[in-house]
Amino acid sequence: MASGELQFIRDLRNRAGHPGGTVRLGIGDDCAVLRPPKGHDILVTTDFSLEGRHFRRDWHPAASAGHRCLARGLSDLAAMGAHPMAAFLSLALPTGFTRRAANRKWLDGFLGGLLHLAKQTKTPLAGGDTSTAPGDAILADIVLLGSTPAGTELRRSKARPGDSLYVTGYLGGASAELAALASSPRSFRNANPAADHPHLYPQPQLRAGQRLRNLASAAIDISDGLSTDLAHLCEESRVGAIVEADALPLHPLLNNKEDALHHALHGGEDYQLLFTAPASSKIPRSIGSTPITRIGAIVRGKAITLRSNGTAERLQPAGWEHSL
Ligand code: ADP
Ligand code: MG
Repeated sequence: MASGELQFIRDLRNRAGHPGGTVRLGIGDDCAVLRPPKGHDILVTTDFSLEGRHFRRDWHPAASAGHRCLARGLSDLAAMGAHPMAAFLSLALPTGFTRRAANRKWLDGFLGGLLHLAKQTKTPLAGGDTSTAPGDAILADIVLLGSTPAGTELRRSKARPGDSLYVTGYLGGASAELAALASSPRSFRNANPAADHPHLYPQPQLRAGQRLRNLASAAIDISDGLSTDLAHLCEESRVGAIVEADALPLHPLLNNKEDALHHALHGGEDYQLLFTAPASSKIPRSIGSTPITRIGAIVRGKAITLRSNGTAERLQPAGWEHSL
């Protein structure tokens, strides 16, 4: 898509603006040039956003698909306490895609959603690649670079028996909203990105992650669901955990829902942080406007237990897992 591609990149370059900060050279040359802050390590993460798998054009507003594409990567940076440095977007579009006005509008909305979150989080779009896709689906891959002061990143592997277990924000909202979206996509067409839409417009917890660098022992973001991500953290740390069902901060979208606990435990894509901290850490009640809730504790062994109303059962990971 020669001329289409050139025009597309020209427009994108204008919209992305002049980066500055750690990005010395952004879109337009063969490579971007970054200069990380002195004494910082560089953290790198990459995430696919594939049509039909991560978003649907008949469900998600274009801006939501773009927002979510970047938010997934930012949440990984948040989980390790990093400051975003730059984003790189590789995009494959079906052959002839931009010939149709409706498709151009979709692309415009996608980039608008992505660039709006990029601006909010000071994450310059510093490059990428553009190609035609072999099939009919839109394929996007985002690479994010971030930095932390050397050696201070938060890891999954440093939880210790006796630590308390916490989450940021609320749980289960994203999967509750996804269910509502699936049953009535039309009612979400004009969803306001600035309002609380936990599935369409999740807010990556960058500020919380950065603050937790000096307080938490281990952290992970909840992308696949609390039960699954807690199992990852416990496995990497070689510990077990006890979760108090009554303590889980349920998202208001779960009010009066019978399966509220199921959404909170196993619903994916909340993009909140799950973290552990020793008793000696003074964990604040909130970071910015995000509440912090203690939901349990880390214990010796391997078992992950859910306690509710005096009973205890094994908490099996039942969140998202790709079957390859
Ligand atoms: P090359 O062929 O040398 O790789 P390209 O023509 O692919 O260069 O890209 C030209 C410039 O536009 C590069 O700086 C590249 O990073 C940027 N670019 C291309 N596609 C995208 C995209 N989807 N998002 C952001 N930047 C892009
Ligand atoms: Mg290229």
